[in-house]
Parts: sequence; C-alpha cells; structure tokens
Amino acid sequence: MLGMNHLSNQVLTDEASTSTNFYESDRILRHYLNKHISGSGLEYMSDKLERLGMQAAGEMDDLSLTADQKSPELKKRSKLGEDINEVEFHPAYWELMDMAAQSEMFYVKYNHKLRNTFSRERHQLGFAAGQLYAMSELGAYCPLCMTDGAAHLVDKFATDDMKERLLPRLAANRGKELFSGAMFLTEKSGGSDVGRNLATAEQIEDDKYKLNGEKWFCSNVNADVIMALARTDKVEQGTRGLSLFLVEKELLDGTRNPINIIRLKEKLGVRSMATGEVIFDDTIGIRLGEENQGFKVMAEMINTSRTYNCVAALAGSRRAVIEAWEYLNHRITFGKKATEHALIRQKFHELGALFVADFLLVWRAIRAMDAAEQGDEEAQQLLRILVPMAKWRSAEHAVYIYANVWN
Ligand SMILES: Cc1cc2nc3c(=O)[nH]c(=O)nc-3n(C[C@H](O)[C@H](O)[C@H](O)COP(=O)(O)OP(=O)(O)OC[C@H]3O[C@@H](n4cnc5c(N)ncnc54)[C@H](O)[C@@H]3O)c2cc1C
Repeated sequence: MLGMNHLSNQVLTDEASTSTNFYESDRILRHYLNKHISGSGLEYMSDKLERLGMQAAGEMDDLSLTADQKSPELKKRSKLGEDINEVEFHPAYWELMDMAAQSEMFYVKYNHKLRNTFSRERHQLGFAAGQLYAMSELGAYCPLCMTDGAAHLVDKFATDDMKERLLPRLAANRGKELFSGAMFLTEKSGGSDVGRNLATAEQIEDDKYKLNGEKWFCSNVNADVIMALARTDKVEQGTRGLSLFLVEKELLDGTRNPINIIRLKEKLGVRSMATGEVIFDDTIGIRLGEENQGFKVMAEMINTSRTYNCVAALAGSRRAVIEAWEYLNHRITFGKKATEHALIRQKFHELGALFVADFLLVWRAIRAMDAAEQGDEEAQQLLRILVPMAKWRSAEHAVYIYANVWN
C-alpha cells in the first residue's frame, strides 16, 4: 500500500470549512424578507427556515446524492403477474419529500387559517423555503413545483367537495400525508405545439370523463393528483379543442385509476424523481374549468412552474458560488489563496452581480404574485411580463454560473 503523508494528501488549508446553514448565511434573502415580509409572517416561518437552511447545508446533501444515484425503478407487475404500475424510490427520496412538507412550503400557502393570516405574502413565504430547499435538492423540487401547481388549480377550479378532500393533502406538512401533483401535457405528436395533442376525453356524466391516449413525458409519474389535457371536441382544432382533467391515482372507491406506465425515461438530470411514458386506458378524469378552455386553465399551472424554475435557478446559482468560494478561499495557488488572485476575484464579482440581479428580478415577480392575488391590477400586468422574463434570465445565468464554477 502506498503511504501518504499529510501534505501530499491535503487539498485545502487546515482552516477550510463549509456553510452549516444556508438560511443564516443568506444575507440577501434575509434582507429581502426583513424588508418585505410582515413581522408575524417572518416570526411564523423563521424556525422552519432555520431548520431547512441547516438541513440543506447538511444532511440533505447526502440524501440528495443517494436519491439521484439510486434512481427510481418501475415495477410493472407483481410476482403473481398482476399489473401494478408502481414506481419504487430509494428511502432517501421520501425523506427529502418529508423535509419539504415539514418546511411548510405548501402548508403556509393553502392551510385555511394560515392563508387568511398571510394572504398578502403567502407566495413569498412558500418560496423562501423553496429557495433554501432547492439549494440541495433539485430533483424533488420538480414534483414539489407540480404539487403547488395542482393545489392552485384545485383551489381555483374544483368543487367544494374536492377542495375539502384534496387541498389538505396537497398542502400537508408531513411527508406521509402529502399528495403530490403532476401535469401531463406532452404527447408524441405535440410538445411545444400542444394543440396537436390527440388524447381524447369522452363524457360519462356531468364533469366526469373517460380519457384515452398516450402521454409522452410525465414527470412525477407516480403522482396522486394529475392535471391532464385531452380533446373533448373533435371539430375544434389546436388548443381550442382541449379541456383539462383532474386524474386521481386512486378512485373514490379505493380502486386504482387505470394509468399504464410504459417505461421510465433515462434522464441526464433530475434523476431522483420519476418521469415516464403513460397510456390512459378508460382513465377517469374530472373536468376542471370550462370545456375547450383547458389550455388556458393549464397555463395557470405553467406559470407557477415557471416561477419554480426561476427559484430553482437562483438556488443552483447561489450554491455554485458558495461551493466555489469555499473551495478557492482555502486553496493555495501560486503562493497565496486562490481568491487573492485578481482574475478570480473579478470572476466572483461578475457571478455575484448576476446572482443579485436575478434575485431581485425573480423576487419582484413573486411579490407581484402576492399582490396580484389581492386584486392589484398593476401587479397583475407586471406578473404577466416578469415571469417569462425572469425565467429566461435566471435560467440562462444559472447555466453560465455553473459552467464558470465547475469548468
Ligand atoms: C426533464 C423533462 C421533464 C419533463 N416533464 C414534463 C411533464 O411533467 N409534463 C409534460 O407535459 N411534459 C414534460 N416534458 C416535456 C417538455 O415539456 C417538452 O419536451 C417540451 O414541451 C418541448 O416539446 P418537444 O420535446 O416535443 O420539442 P419540439 O416541440 O419538437 O421542439 C423542438 C425544438 O424546436 C424548438 N421550437 C419549437 N417550436 C418553435 C417555434 N415556434 N419557434 C422557435 N423554436 C421552436 C423548441 O424550442 C425545441 O428546441 C419534460 C421534458 C423534460 C426534458
């Protein structure tokens, strides 16, 4: 065995250390929250943010790596040969989902009492937790995004009975109780051009329909509450013939809704969560919103997703800058700390400036989201233009920041 002395095995200086709490160290987020969030809102969330900040800088990291390396597997059939269509996850994934629920990123937004108390700031409170969470786990943040989106559509378009039954589950603050959401839009025939979708919906009674057809890219394929687009009207072409359906994994009588998962996708990223190809085979769906207005209804969920994308991009950018700073600040190159070299400092100034600009843009959009819900018309207009802009800039900069840091 080769002997290794201390010096030849050492990469960083002796005093090297890593962040222990991403919330405590985030002076930008804390400043923002202090400025814009009410004292009671901050008081309610602060212990959750503290705990999540510590988890994200600590135990979530290992869980996240494990959940990513031990990607979910599809169990098509039981040992008896019966179709089960179950997706099996590593326990690390469920722990990560539990941490998300316990952070109250949804509970604070949809719990009846809290949403009234914090009606002016519920999105900001939820996304503060989201940004910390996504610094450590971006895979599960995709199902979490769609859980929020599904809760939003249930809240806005479902019957009172459905709201009462589903909202407490979609916004649970315990992983065991959490129902997760999904959106099934994409088909082989239509990706960007959703209007080319072929899946059909045939009315059984009132707002209850039978769905048939194939969905090609279904993230969080094991979701409890799925929002799916299907065509009720063969005459209307394009997106005009589409309606939106709420598809539950389990029907009210306890039986499984037929959702045939053909296979899971082999992905390059977000490998901790399952994305699949699915066939609806007389699958029961409940229409939300008016017939033929499905794309417009779905657009509300898509806008939520865009905002999650922004927050995930911010989180990834901040994590990348922190990792690089911690490393280079304790790495000796050419006789001094790497961060003492002029070009390295200049690069940090550039990346830091991009991050701060994106932070302000994204959080301005989230603040507009809260104000828009209160009926502020200017905020409603602002939200329409800010969300796509913020998604574009933050995503593009996140890729640039990763590329600079991990090259
Ligand atoms: C990791 C991952 C998870 C996903 N999860 C889901 C999910 O949960 N639910 C879901 O429904 N879908 C999901 N999708 C599918 C995704 O939304 C589609 O891939 C997307 O809508 C694009 O469709 P497409 O792949 O068919 O590309 P196409 O529509 O075939 O587009 C190909 C290329 O042409 C460009 N293009 C298309 N139209 C235009 C135009 N008019 N002008 C200029 N350029 C254009 C596109 O930007 C793209 O670069 C997921 C995809 C990925 C990668």
